[in-house]
Formats: sequence, C-alpha cells, structure tokens
Amino acid sequence: MAQTPLQPARGTRDLIGEEFRRHQRVVDTARRVATLYGFEEWATPVFEDTRVFARGLGDTSDVVMKEMYTFPDRGGESLTLRPEMTAGVCRALVSNGLTQSGLPRKVFYAGPMFRYERPQKGRYRQFHQIGIEVLGAAEPLADAEVIACGWHIQQELGIAEGTVLEINTLGDAESRAAYRAALVAYFAAHRDRLSEDSRLRLERNPLRILDSKDPGDRALVAEAPTIHAYLTAPAAAFHAGVKRYLERFGVPFRDNPRIVRGLDYYNHTAFEFVTDRLGAQGTVMAGGRYDGLVEEMGGPPTPSVGWAAGVERLALLLEEAGLTPPAPRPVAVVPVGEAAEGPALDLLQALRRAGVVAEIAYRGNLKRRLERANRQHARAAVILGEEEIARGVAQLRDLDSGTQETVAIGEIPRRLA
Ligand code: ATP
Ligand code: MG
Repeated sequence: MAQTPLQPARGTRDLIGEEFRRHQRVVDTARRVATLYGFEEWATPVFEDTRVFARGLGDTSDVVMKEMYTFPDRGGESLTLRPEMTAGVCRALVSNGLTQSGLPRKVFYAGPMFRYERPQKGRYRQFHQIGIEVLGAAEPLADAEVIACGWHIQQELGIAEGTVLEINTLGDAESRAAYRAALVAYFAAHRDRLSEDSRLRLERNPLRILDSKDPGDRALVAEAPTIHAYLTAPAAAFHAGVKRYLERFGVPFRDNPRIVRGLDYYNHTAFEFVTDRLGAQGTVMAGGRYDGLVEEMGGPPTPSVGWAAGVERLALLLEEAGLTPPAPRPVAVVPVGEAAEGPALDLLQALRRAGVVAEIAYRGNLKRRLERANRQHARAAVILGEEEIARGVAQLRDLDSGTQETVAIGEIPRRLA
C-alpha cells in the first residue's frame, strides 16, 4: 500500500542545491576569516544538561521561558537541545580544565541550534549559527576585535553594505544597579500597560523589558530612560575605548541605547548587526560581553566577549544580493565502445587527482552521455574512442564554445586543471 509522503518537522528545512551552497559559503568564509584572527574551532555536544542553559541564559530569558527543547532521557536526566553555543563553550572551558592557563582563548564554532519558535522567513526551529568567543580577556580591545572579525566576515561574503552595526553598553554592576532602579521606577509607573511577560521581567530582570518584542512594551520602551546617565566613570571609559578601537579598525557603527541583548549574562558592550532587507528578522549577528557566564558554569571569574550570527539570515542576504555560489562544473569523461571504458576510468581518476571535478555516466551511448553532460552544465567533455585510445589521444570538446581538438590523453589533466 502506498504510504503518505512525509514532510520535515515544523520549522525545520532541508538544505539542498543552491540553499546548501549559500549555507556552506557562509560557514566556510566565517571559518577562514576567524582563523585569520587567531580563533580555533571547537565542537561541543548538540545536547547538554539542562542546567547549562538554565544557568547560562537565565530563567527570565525568552529562550529559557518559552523556546527550549527540553526532555528527560531514558535515564531520567533532563537534557536540552542547545538553543545557542555560548553557554556550552563556557561549560567546555570549565569541564576541560582550561580556565587557569592559556587565556585568553579564542574560539570559533558553527552548528545547528534548536528553539521552539513560530516558524517564518529567517526564523526556524532548527537553525544554524556561526560564532566566536574570546574567553578570559577584560580589555576593550577584545570587544573591538571580535566585532571587527564579524564585520570582516560580512565584507568577505559581500553583504556588508546591507547591514549596520549598532552598539550600546550595559555598564558594570554599579551602573546597572543604578539604571535598574531608574527603569523599575519608570516601568512600575506604567505597570498596567506592560505585557504579562514584562510584568514578570519587572520583578526579576527589568532590563529585559527593553528587549521585548511586544508592541505595547515597545511603545513604553521608546520613552524609557537610557543607561548613559547612570554609567560609572570606568564603565564610560570602557565604552569609549571600544568605540575608539572600532574607529581604528575602520568599522562603522551607530549608537542604539535600546540594545540590551536577550541573555542575562551580558555586561558592558552589547551590539547587533541589523539589516532592513529581511523584514521582521532584522538581526543577523549579535553579541556582547559576558563577564559572569564562566562562573555560572562553576569556573573562576573569566571576562569574555563574543557574538553569534544566524547562518540562514546571512544566506538570505547572499541570495538577495545575487551572490549564490555556482555549482562546480564537471568535466564529462565519455567512453565510446566497451573497450574504451577501462582507459576512460583511468583518465577519470587522473583528472580527480589533478583537482579537476570529473564525472562519468554509469551507462548510455555517446548521445545520451553528451546530453547528460549538458544537463550537468559540464564545461568540457573528453570523448575516448577505441581507435583513438590505441593512438594515445582523445577528443577534448569545450562545451561552451563547441570547439573540439585532438589531445594526447596524458596531457588532458594538465590542460583542464
Ligand atoms: P531574535 O531577536 O531574532 O529572536 P535572538 O535575540 O533570539 O534573535 P540570538 O540568541 O542573539 O538571537 O542569536 C543570534 C542570531 O541567531 C540572531 O541574530 C539570528 O541571526 C539568529 N537566530 C536566532 N534565532 C533564530 C531562529 N529561530 N532561526 C534562525 N535564526 C535565528
Ligand atoms: Mg529570539
């Protein structure tokens, strides 16, 4: 009996063809540029002890309140599919005993993340992030270098004109305490106009209200006090230092006092690269400084800074800019007659070993094979007939110009490399 064709789970997608190539371009470019900045790649598990994220993201974050894929495994332990990587990287720093020496450590990562969200363009339940973290550096130069690396990646991708860097500071603990009091006073005076989530945030983490997506909250937030009046002198100096280094690195930015980032562990620098080209999903790269997170994982105080970027959103920007990488164009090796197959296979492998993308059809006559070569958008066909093989030559046909010449078989890999 015929079965119903199955669909991917809601909010998940297959990456095939152009979509995969854009995705791969984003990750490869990020990995290459991050390497230039001295980052080394880490891979951490896709699932973690739920406490990694409950502690790491804070229990008032949207992610922890509403978006985590949490489940008891067969042994009864509570596990969570990672919604982001920063908490896992900090957990790994502690678990692997890397907190005492070798700091700062500069880590790059790429991989799938999982959040139970309402799926829409640029927002999925399984999505992918690239990211970098500098672990164990308290200097504003680290913040600026991290941002410069993110900007550099966007430039190499060819999408940097479409994004704007917005930065803010959340100050140090003293600045935040003073600001927090001012925010509580302001929002408490408008308590009845706050969303239910934000009334909860008002009790537990009022800064979070600044990050709310509720339209009513956003109207109130627009009139809320900003942190700048509450910054201590050292916090203001730190922020000025970050901006000075950004100018030195040639990274353009603008101030946005509403940026707080969704996660509880941020302090000092908070930033986002935003775009107006993706509708509501405007943030492509986001990050900041998180001086308390490694301690949450059971390690010593380890000031750190980093960002994460959505691969799907960067890939959408590539598509929008007409920058989808082309599929590689193969060379088609075409034997004519049974006795030609052996020498054709030898040439096929010689081409591949010379770094040439080469294919052979598993069956078919000359006409069929050339049709397939055209469908694959092959750049050339090497046609090997039995008599020519005996003379050590083959026909090399350029499939764009249609010109054909007789070439010594031994010469062909060099000609096409
Ligand atoms: P948003 O405000 O769009 O929900 P966020 O603050 O939850 O983003 P972060 O946790 O900072 O996002 O993640 C960093 C980046 O990862 C985002 O800027 C975005 O590009 C990407 N991202 C986050 N959630 C998703 C998702 N569900 N689908 C696709 N990309 C996502
Ligand atoms: Mg979100």
